[in-house]
Amino acid sequence: MVGNDNRRIAIIGAGITGLSAAFQLKKLGFKITVFEASSRPGGVIRTVREKEWLAECGPNTLLETTPTLKQFFKEINLESRKLYSSPDAENRYIARYKRPIILSSSPIGFFLSELYSASAKFRLLMEPFVSRGRGEESVAEFVKRRLGQEFLDYAIDPLVSGIYAGDPYKISLIHSFVKVYNLEAKYGSLILGQIFGARERKKRQEISKANAPKITFDDGLQVLTDTLADYIKDSIKFNCEVSEIIKTEDGYKIVLKNSGVDSEEIFSAVLVTSTAYKLAEMNLSNVGKYIDLSELEKIEYPPVASVVLGYKREDVKHPINGFGVLIPRKEGFRILGAIFSSSLFPYRAPAGYLTLTMYLGGAQNPDIALKPESELIKMTDEDLRVLLGVNGKIAFAYTALNKKAIPQYNVGYGKFLKLFDDVENSVPGLFFAGNYRSGVSLSDSIHSGLNTANKVAQFLEGHKE
Ligand SMILES: Cc1cc2nc3c(=O)[nH]c(=O)nc-3n(C[C@H](O)[C@H](O)[C@H](O)COP(=O)(O)OP(=O)(O)OC[C@H]3O[C@@H](n4cnc5c(N)ncnc54)[C@H](O)[C@@H]3O)c2cc1C
Repeated sequence: MVGNDNRRIAIIGAGITGLSAAFQLKKLGFKITVFEASSRPGGVIRTVREKEWLAECGPNTLLETTPTLKQFFKEINLESRKLYSSPDAENRYIARYKRPIILSSSPIGFFLSELYSASAKFRLLMEPFVSRGRGEESVAEFVKRRLGQEFLDYAIDPLVSGIYAGDPYKISLIHSFVKVYNLEAKYGSLILGQIFGARERKKRQEISKANAPKITFDDGLQVLTDTLADYIKDSIKFNCEVSEIIKTEDGYKIVLKNSGVDSEEIFSAVLVTSTAYKLAEMNLSNVGKYIDLSELEKIEYPPVASVVLGYKREDVKHPINGFGVLIPRKEGFRILGAIFSSSLFPYRAPAGYLTLTMYLGGAQNPDIALKPESELIKMTDEDLRVLLGVNGKIAFAYTALNKKAIPQYNVGYGKFLKLFDDVENSVPGLFFAGNYRSGVSLSDSIHSGLNTANKVAQFLEGHKE
């Protein structure tokens, strides 16, 4: 019954977080309505298939870090469409001296590698003797203190670029790499923590991100969000940007931007999974308490351009046998890295060709992402000629701009996290989930959606009439 149904939930945003939450709540028997500002589901997940070429415009791979994720894909019937990365694609490269150098996973290989100087390797042996830090540190401060400048420049800087398109001098260690922070806090050393932490992860059945299986689906990551959207298709309202949430006697009303029209339904709970910068614009002054989230506009969301290029296999000198190449900023390339997409997963390029995915922009060089498409393709192709020995024509090109790509958990991010906790504690029935709160990876986002959905369910079960 409209207006008096204590099991009706509004979900704002149909990215992977909102869709995962919607799936879970529907499964638990709740009535849901998902309001999505754009005309399509998926948020930053978007896959383009052009004949035998496949281009990911946003994320490329999902890490299956927990049994929960495995179970989730089973429940949504995607087991048969799931692809695991090729075992031959385990190599990871880091660019140095303008060429890809393999990152060895064995201690002996590491010490023999030309990737790091003898003094950097010696510095690493000293790591267990470095004393603990104080206060909130940036990733750069932490790494310089524990491992030295060279590891910052040639291991962590490219890693932070690869995960966050971020700047290690701004990104907060505790908010972005809490497990690394905890290793120091608990064991006093990253090396000792790695050894002992592995046993604990095994106990928790959790796999570290570095060892987690990398997955996608036969037609790309959008298969996941399309499948979830299909599951709840009668409950999604597209082109509906929520501008205000209003508390009424019976629950919450949703106001949509431009239309000024309130939703007819009254919701007992609202789960917000929109982006933080859109949340900053939302009017929450009438949710039973005066709430002002405009502070969230200060969260940095740099632009990132994805450039997907295809070449004839014979026109690329490098064997393209691995996950891809991470690129330290010191190397002077414009691309942040190159993912060997068609080596990782099948069905990404026609026979005899390969597909590479590159990102440009991010926190360290935001303006470059906004360059015209033809310039982005030219710069990327030029970089690949030097880095991977490309010497033929581009056979396929697709570019996509993510104007506000990934929220940066910079030093001081704790004040934003506290804001979400405070609002949830003071406004019963209002919940927040998504990549601005519980980690930016796809696996973090799915967990955030599922866990928050369970919290909403518990809240409503406790408030049954
Ligand atoms: C270029 C790029 C590459 C990435 N690569 C990887 C990768 O390889 N692996 C990985 O694990 N992660 C990767 N990530 C991160 C990951 O993709 C995201 O963090 C995750 O998809 C975020 O999902 P979300 O649902 O929380 O947010 P979003 O996808 O941003 O979805 C939010 C949704 O809310 C809607 N919305 C916003 N405001 C409103 C409103 N007021 N009313 C209604 N709807 C609203 C938006 O339109 C959008 O659809 C990448 C991200 C980017 C941008």
